[in-house]
Amino acid sequence: MKTETRLNSNLDPENWDDLRAIAHQMIDDIIDYTANIGDELVWKPIPEEMKSVFAQPVPTAARGEQGAYQDFKDYVLCNPMGNIHPRFWGWVMGNGVPFAAFADMLASTLNPNLGGGDHVANYVERQVVDWCKQMVGYPAESSGLLVSGGSMANFIGLAVARNAKAGFDIRSQGVSAAPAQMTVYASTQTHSSNYKAIEQLGIGKDWMRFIPVDEHYQMDIQALEAAIAADKAAGYHPICIIGNAATTNTGAFDDLTALADIAEREDIWFHVDGAFGALARLSPKYGDVTAGMERADSLAFDLHKWMYLPMGVACVLIRKFEDHISTFTVSPDYLSHMPRGLASSGGHAWFGDLGLELTRGFRALKVWMSLKAYGLDHFALQIEQDIEKAKYLEKLVTASPHLELLADVPLNIVCFRYIHPDIPADELDDFNQEIMLRLHERGLAVPSYTKLNGHFALRVSITNHRTTRADLDLLVEGVYAIADEIRGGN
Ligand SMILES: *Cc1c(COP(=O)(O)O)cnc(C)c1O
Repeated sequence: MKTETRLNSNLDPENWDDLRAIAHQMIDDIIDYTANIGDELVWKPIPEEMKSVFAQPVPTAARGEQGAYQDFKDYVLCNPMGNIHPRFWGWVMGNGVPFAAFADMLASTLNPNLGGGDHVANYVERQVVDWCKQMVGYPAESSGLLVSGGSMANFIGLAVARNAKAGFDIRSQGVSAAPAQMTVYASTQTHSSNYKAIEQLGIGKDWMRFIPVDEHYQMDIQALEAAIAADKAAGYHPICIIGNAATTNTGAFDDLTALADIAEREDIWFHVDGAFGALARLSPKYGDVTAGMERADSLAFDLHKWMYLPMGVACVLIRKFEDHISTFTVSPDYLSHMPRGLASSGGHAWFGDLGLELTRGFRALKVWMSLKAYGLDHFALQIEQDIEKAKYLEKLVTASPHLELLADVPLNIVCFRYIHPDIPADELDDFNQEIMLRLHERGLAVPSYTKLNGHFALRVSITNHRTTRADLDLLVEGVYAIADEIRGGN
């Protein structure tokens, strides 16, 4: 490129109509792809020869928009993770709302920064946070923020918990100035993102008390009370109880009302990890499982799991605004608020003062537009249907002589394994792992796995609005067929 052209160039397309044509093509292609996703394999291995594409160095010369899009089609589109497929039930993963993907496109095009300022994107996020409060039964005057996921939502909630309960200026003096060691309580089933946060907050995982669970995978309340009493007697400082609004392993809810009572009595912060389970509250039929959740001092939940929205959006709510802002607010000269104009506060806190991120994308738009497009009742119905799909699979499992249910099915997660008199007990773990690997490799279905009571479990977690009962029938047939193959020595 000649120097002169370089100085006059920018990153807009050379010809807007060419970009328009490619953009239309992208939309047509991706709609066809999504509409027919059920005909594809759920997952397949990336061909070895294709992997070299991902080792190529940074392109210095232009390949053109068409070329870049072609590479997307040739190497990316054809190798999906699979989680938008109707037979994907691994981990806890939403499968996306197609309309919301286009909202993301609009958000990226407007490209505002929601760190602060008086502009409309912040009004959209504030409204989405207000809607989130209504969805989970939280008071209107509470505070909140959209973040990238449940891990970040838990981190924010637990950071506020630590600062609010430390009893001294921990932001200035640091954890080492604590007069007594702080302790945190959660069940053995609590998600790893919580202890990751406790580690990063300087409290240390050794000071997190993992309370045992009962046969329903709910926290043992007496053991919790005993642990708190023992820590107090030893001179430690209990600061936070973490309750599960659905555990990742089995979908169990702790007795959140009992936890809220204990937290209140002992003057301990009550945080609820409701990553997916919090939204069960939307179901008129099953919502009662979340009772007590609304009493939490902080509550974390994903919108990219059981609201099915595209990845990268979760919500954290903090009951008291003061606790929230005092944990994160900073005021360097270049971020001070002006009395009027774009840099004013608009009468509200800046989101950059309520979390770790300053530059923040417009993740709120896809939530705002999807709720307007489909209405909350429709999301509630999807959640309720997912729970009923899980109950259907539970029935299939219990009715199958060679399948064994490994845990209750309180919500949307079914854990089971294949058993047969010919398979020795100590070979069942490997046998079931092999079934799962073949299900994945054949692109038939993607369950994930966990260990329950020391047993390898096939784990089907349904946050998938595309799954039908026929898909679950196919899973059970697939498990039986693969088991026969393995037993037959193939
Ligand atoms: C998924 C999950 C998390 C973590 O959320 P991410 O969105 O993956 O960061 C936390 N807690 C529970 C119970 C979860 O299921």
